[in-house]
Amino acid sequence: MTKGTFPVESFKGIETPFYYYDIDLLKKTLSIVKELTHKYGYHQHYAVKANANHKILQLIAAAGFGADCVSGNEVKAAISAGFPCSKIVFAGVGKTDKEINLGIDYNIFCFNVESLPELEVINELAEKKGKKVSVAIRINPNVDAHTHEYITTGLNENKFGFSMSSLDKVFDKIKTLQNIELIGLHFHIGSQITEVETFEPLCERINELQNQCEAKGIQLKNINVGGGLGIDYDDPNANPVPPFEAYFELFHKNLELRKDQMVHFELGRSIVAQCGALISRVTYVKEGDSKKFVILDAGMTDLIRPALYQAYHKVENISSDLPIEKYDVVGPICESSDSFVKDYELNGTKRGDLVALRSAGAYGEIMASQYNCREIPKAYFSDKL
Ligand SMILES: *Cc1c(COP(=O)(O)O)cnc(C)c1O
Repeated sequence: MTKGTFPVESFKGIETPFYYYDIDLLKKTLSIVKELTHKYGYHQHYAVKANANHKILQLIAAAGFGADCVSGNEVKAAISAGFPCSKIVFAGVGKTDKEINLGIDYNIFCFNVESLPELEVINELAEKKGKKVSVAIRINPNVDAHTHEYITTGLNENKFGFSMSSLDKVFDKIKTLQNIELIGLHFHIGSQITEVETFEPLCERINELQNQCEAKGIQLKNINVGGGLGIDYDDPNANPVPPFEAYFELFHKNLELRKDQMVHFELGRSIVAQCGALISRVTYVKEGDSKKFVILDAGMTDLIRPALYQAYHKVENISSDLPIEKYDVVGPICESSDSFVKDYELNGTKRGDLVALRSAGAYGEIMASQYNCREIPKAYFSDKL
């Protein structure tokens, strides 16, 4: 497999580890999504939780996207990066009163509501402000996303959204709440979904629900299908851009829309993952009895996905063209889970080499922690090194 191209010379003076973002690839990805969005008349809300780096957010906002937020601070980060309040949606099972008030004060587009008590609190807080607030209800469609159990969200047994069976109760409740307007249905079945056909049963479920709503005389203007499109972690060089065409076409073919209905998407990972890499320096190469360990200056505090969900990131030695050898590549943190890959083929590696952990633009930098009193890695951009 080929290696990615990195400006290794320009990295020389930069303290490692750091995140490096390929801005050309981000812009290319955004323009492809934008074109398809126009083609089908869809609406995009970038899922801020995937990467909330200010410059990345600014570029996505400038491309005309809205934002999907899951905390009050994400709403603030989105607004400060230039996302219009009128294109912000706010999801999450545990929105606090403070966060709800913030969303109401900013007149965001819509709250994606996940429980009856949340509906009541939003109504109460809106009433105090003399406002009517738009909500969509998040429905748990009981669709298996065929992904890791920690990132599947659409099955009955997890904490997100309303179950299909509770919907009549929810619709009845909403009728009694004066300061809430129901404007749509919201779904999000999971993340890192690599087979686009997985979204077919979601479309079927949405079609059934629409019939159900219609039978009850409920008309909804907005259908939000969430995010979840996966990326190719195995071969980011062959597939730098996810299969957006097949993905949007699937929804176009399978969703039965009513007149003037708007379809919203909340893509996170598929927008930003491939443009980012974590760049780290080799601190030691340690020879064990039966293995060689490459010990990096980056660890699970900088990129937690492998430790958290056994995720794989392609590792490349970007300083070496020496013959391939096998290594375990690990971090310096005092946890056995602080390991990136095992028995892995890398070009012959020595102390001081630079290593790239690929496809780290999503759920990378934003998940960094200070465990072991470590520093949060800085970010650098291809257009400004
Ligand atoms: C995380 C999340 C997304 C984005 O998921 P990706 O897999 O990164 O596309 C979208 N919507 C909601 C509600 C989420 O929680």
